Amino acid sequence: MSRNILSAVAWPYANSHIHVGNITGSYLPADVFTRYQRLAGNRVIMVSGSDAHGTPVTVRADAENSTPLEVYQKYHASFLELFQKLGLSYDLFTSTHTENHFKVSQSIFLALQKNGCLYTEREPQWYSHSQRRYLPDRYVEGTCYICGYTNARGDQCDSCGNLLDASQLIDPRSKIDGSTPELRDTEHFYLDLGKLQPAVVEFLHQREDYWRPNVLRQSLGQIEANALRGRAITRDLDWGIPVPVEGWEGKCLYVWFEAVIGYLSAAIEWAQINEKPEAWHDWWYDPEARSYYFIGKDNIPFHAVIWPAQLSGADGYFGEIFEGEGGKLLNLPYDVPANEFMNLEGQKISGSRNWAVWGLDFLSRYDPDPLRYYLITNMPESKDTDWDWQDFVNRNNNELVATWGNLANRMLSFAFRNWDGKVPNPGELRAEDKEILATVEKGFETVGEHINAVRLRFALFEAIRLATEVNKYLDKAAPWFEIKTDKEEAATTVYTALRAIDSLKILLAPFLPFTSERLHRYLGYSEPLFGELTTEVRHDSLGEHEVLRYLPGQASGKWQPSQLPAGQALVQPEPLFRKLDDSLVEEERARLGVTQK
Ligand SMILES: [Zn+2]
Repeated sequence: MSRNILSAVAWPYANSHIHVGNITGSYLPADVFTRYQRLAGNRVIMVSGSDAHGTPVTVRADAENSTPLEVYQKYHASFLELFQKLGLSYDLFTSTHTENHFKVSQSIFLALQKNGCLYTEREPQWYSHSQRRYLPDRYVEGTCYICGYTNARGDQCDSCGNLLDASQLIDPRSKIDGSTPELRDTEHFYLDLGKLQPAVVEFLHQREDYWRPNVLRQSLGQIEANALRGRAITRDLDWGIPVPVEGWEGKCLYVWFEAVIGYLSAAIEWAQINEKPEAWHDWWYDPEARSYYFIGKDNIPFHAVIWPAQLSGADGYFGEIFEGEGGKLLNLPYDVPANEFMNLEGQKISGSRNWAVWGLDFLSRYDPDPLRYYLITNMPESKDTDWDWQDFVNRNNNELVATWGNLANRMLSFAFRNWDGKVPNPGELRAEDKEILATVEKGFETVGEHINAVRLRFALFEAIRLATEVNKYLDKAAPWFEIKTDKEEAATTVYTALRAIDSLKILLAPFLPFTSERLHRYLGYSEPLFGELTTEVRHDSLGEHEVLRYLPGQASGKWQPSQLPAGQALVQPEPLFRKLDDSLVEEERARLGVTQK
């Protein structure tokens, strides 16, 4: 039975490049999961976009002497480039700076208001006379009222690590011009999380059986320890989505409030692009549909608590406000398989210190599948992990090249050379041939189950273990000796091995899409396993934005055992992976921490 599945992927802030920690934290697991669901015949869409608004972008614009729009567009373009090169198959990767996202976010706001889930309150905030505007928390620095550190930021103290209430800073100064701001009262809308708490708690209890323990701890555990309190959803800032209420000009929706709404607005934009404007209902209103949120652990409260609260609070009215058709309930997250963090050579990744392996920089020297392979074998699914350059080289050489790449290349070359470039005709399969095929074919169950449960490391280890089994089978059968005495026996062995390799190609395709696609061609298939990624520019009242799209095209890959026809013409194969030299370990380590300009 085909199921509707939404892969909702974390929205990167458009103020920085993307490093391997971000990739393995959320983007890559989403892609592996989504590619598997496509092969398995489910109706899956994978959506996300650039988080274009908020102070992270305006602060960067000030630092680069640029505008928020220019900053967002620059980093957005770099995301599109990286995702294409890494094969992250978003059905739509868009942005929060679109007319559609503005309308969807404002509709959620109005639906919450109509359901009585918003209230207003006046609070003191720092006002800059020189700039004649309120200063966001990140724009104010001063002395920490907890530890006395003199360079604390308004939102957080880097010395004691506490989150701060900006209005309590001692000796405050504007980060922009150093002037002293003044506290003034300003009015804001708040999301009434106290009122929504019962709905959120019920939602979490329903998912207790299958959610990751760390996600439950940071959601249900936190609420049980401390009741939810109202949270401001508007702020005094001009870069963002206007508050859709008269008299509130000059204020915007807080970026945390509107960015998560992107999961909904991106599905809606996807449907519009495909000229089936209501198609998003299949993922958001069908109660059997499942949504998976791929995020890092720093984002758990927003996705496991606040986003479900927003959705519950908007129920009934969202559809009416957005498209004049009300009464329906929006789907709450089915799973939030948040990952822990990846460190780098034993230290926390830090972009500002350039202690990072940057995605695009990496791909200027290496191929995408070895990166995907290393990041999945080392994915922080249950605990923090570490990127280690020596480990990267070892796994590439000992596993990708020695276990899998050589197996595929050796057998394809052998068949190509000795059977006129064709898949050999086997004699009757022997017990050991049937046994190895059965072993590999069982992988469609075991690997599939692991991926469905978002245990991607186990899934990949299992697929590689099956490749090891095929190697053992070949070591024993030794067709390169058989062929000298009995070519028909050798043909049976080679046919069996090629069929096992053809199955392994599918089992590995969600993880290693580029090399699986090449292997698929070498095996003589004419239609590709997967579709293609493409970009296009879209226009609306806010200007233009570029999007990334996965187009299925002639994609023919299926999650099922090989039916490789004997006699099928092969294509002269090339090695799938290259062996890496140990000397690169020191070269790469020497790049770390060196500030690039
Ligand atoms: Zn402090």
